[in-house]
Amino acid sequence: MSWEDNIRKVVPYVAGEQPKDRNIIKLNTNESPYPPSPLVAEAVKNIETDQLRKYPDTNATELVEEMAKTYGVSKDNIFVGIGSDDVLALAFLTYFNSDKQVIFPDITYSFYDVWAELYRIPYVTKPLDDDFNIIKEDYLCDNGGVVIANPNAPTGAEMSIDAIEEIVRFNKDRVVIVDEAYVDFGATSALPLIDRYDNLVVVQTFSKSRALAGIRIGMAFGNPKIIGYLKDVKFSFNSYTLNPYTIAIGAAALKDREYYADITAKTVKTRERMKNELKQLGFTFADSKTNFIFAKHERLEAKDIFAALRAEGIYVRYFNKPRIDNYLRISMGTDEQMDKMIAFLKGYING
Ligand SMILES: *Cc1c(COP(=O)(O)O)cnc(C)c1O
Repeated sequence: MSWEDNIRKVVPYVAGEQPKDRNIIKLNTNESPYPPSPLVAEAVKNIETDQLRKYPDTNATELVEEMAKTYGVSKDNIFVGIGSDDVLALAFLTYFNSDKQVIFPDITYSFYDVWAELYRIPYVTKPLDDDFNIIKEDYLCDNGGVVIANPNAPTGAEMSIDAIEEIVRFNKDRVVIVDEAYVDFGATSALPLIDRYDNLVVVQTFSKSRALAGIRIGMAFGNPKIIGYLKDVKFSFNSYTLNPYTIAIGAAALKDREYYADITAKTVKTRERMKNELKQLGFTFADSKTNFIFAKHERLEAKDIFAALRAEGIYVRYFNKPRIDNYLRISMGTDEQMDKMIAFLKGYING
């Protein structure tokens, strides 16, 4: 017998690498290559440090009010947390409390099974089809809850909003979480469905399209009752998660719609151009609606391309996992960064 027998042991999620060298072309963690809105820098300057003596507003009211305006919902439809990782972890803890299995795809955000293991939530994964699409019928069954990333990660593929709605409707007696981390890059959001389905929770983040991965803001949308349960769990855990900087920065970012429409459109344009370039180099991939492309080469091994790019100072993401170990997830950088990558790949593949 040892104290170690009594430990809650988990295999943690492994985040993408954050190299110190600023010259690295970093296409490995789906961050924005563009800076956040200039209004963000201004908001930071205007924060009085005297505010920091006091505990922050547990309701993050300034941020939540701005979010309500931006998304056309009311304040009590919104829950905010420290990035959507925090929101999703609390959502797993709050909503998945039965003996039945929670369902999510076999290939998806690799944090889901980590949270399920951490909280001892029974779960089962359903395989994507060979084109990496989610098979709707797999989610129309008895279960303890459903989690779907839409568009899915790391595949980039979108499930139709009609299929999402059918899953939400079928599962009206348990919670369905739709993780929309990448929805701003051209997919259709399930957000309008929260008025009609009280079992639906839609999760989004400021980390990708809003270029604010470093400040850690994520949110969940749902009807006031389901959001209320999430708040109860959060306030039983740690009430003061969003600090005055986070709140002011988030609110400022939401005010600059034009800026974000512009950088999001740039990323989408880069992505569409990259689809052509990569195809010409012999890559295949699901049709991405995100800020990354998940690609496989017709001849060369992903892990070799990964190593060659890395040696060149170009970091992409490689997952050494069943079914996806011959794929690379390439985040969209600036056009200049992507052109450097393509130029290198041309030499490496054809040369
Ligand atoms: C990036 C990502 C998140 C989490 O992002 P946060 O930075 O914690 O908001 C959640 N889900 C998916 C699918 C993601 O790709």
